[in-house]
Amino acid sequence: MQVFHTVNGLRDILRKHRNSEQSIGFVPTMGNLHDGHLALIKQAKETNDIVVCSIFVNALQFGLNEDWDKYPRTYDSDCKKLEEAGCNYLFYPDDSEMYPNGLDTQSRVICPTMTDVLCGASRPGHFEGVTTVVSKLFNIVQPDEAIFGIKDYQQLAVIKRMTEDLCLPVKITPAPIHREADGLAMSSRNSYITEDERPKVKVLKEVLELIAQQIKAGNLGFIKLELEAKKRIEFEGFKADYVTVSNSKTLQPAAVDDRQITILGAMYTESARLIDNVSITLD
Ligand code: AMP
Repeated sequence: MQVFHTVNGLRDILRKHRNSEQSIGFVPTMGNLHDGHLALIKQAKETNDIVVCSIFVNALQFGLNEDWDKYPRTYDSDCKKLEEAGCNYLFYPDDSEMYPNGLDTQSRVICPTMTDVLCGASRPGHFEGVTTVVSKLFNIVQPDEAIFGIKDYQQLAVIKRMTEDLCLPVKITPAPIHREADGLAMSSRNSYITEDERPKVKVLKEVLELIAQQIKAGNLGFIKLELEAKKRIEFEGFKADYVTVSNSKTLQPAAVDDRQITILGAMYTESARLIDNVSITLD
């Protein structure tokens, strides 16, 4: 695997592949790679000739009191894992390469409405940072296909919408959620969970699944289901941020005649914010 720190270096090599009609698959990440990330790389390899991964802890998508400075940075072990997974190129830029004119005056990409709800409501500006960096990365890599994890469901939906709205020539492909043995969705932020909390955090996935079962069984009292789920999260000692039954495409609160439903949840432990989701299709 070859590592590039500059936009021009990566562009030069990718141009050669494009000219030989080789397809390019792309997996953007913030590093601290786990099996969930590596599954995305493997998925990209199955459908493309060349796979590019990026590692960039994007300051633009972190709020002022969030964990940008303490976000785990594990470059050496990430490189080893990417090499083993068969990644061809790693793009590993620094802040000045990605934001040469500084963050404050950076042009931005905005995807309205969908980003005002759920994680967007609790993390103002977060998705603007995501859509901006992802469109920059798409312009740098110019991939045929980009793979995003369903784990970050709202992010995937927003990126799909941005790609459609701006006619970006990239196929956005979802990848299934990778979980630990007890059901906890793998995440770089799981390293913030304390030993005491660890056996209890599976409650998030459990309450989302319970709601899914209830809805499938015909219980369409979404608000009550959401309230009960939040109570159970609080009972385990965590702070519920949101539990919401949403329309899978628009992410607005689900209507009783919606067929594609996604139940999304977020909760705070002592020092982590965890998210998860479950999707169902009704007949
Ligand atoms: P991150 O490094 O957290 O920005 O994630 C990079 C990509 O990996 C995003 O598309 C995530 O949705 C995806 N990802 C992270 N965790 C998981 C997981 N547990 N299962 C599947 N995909 C994941």
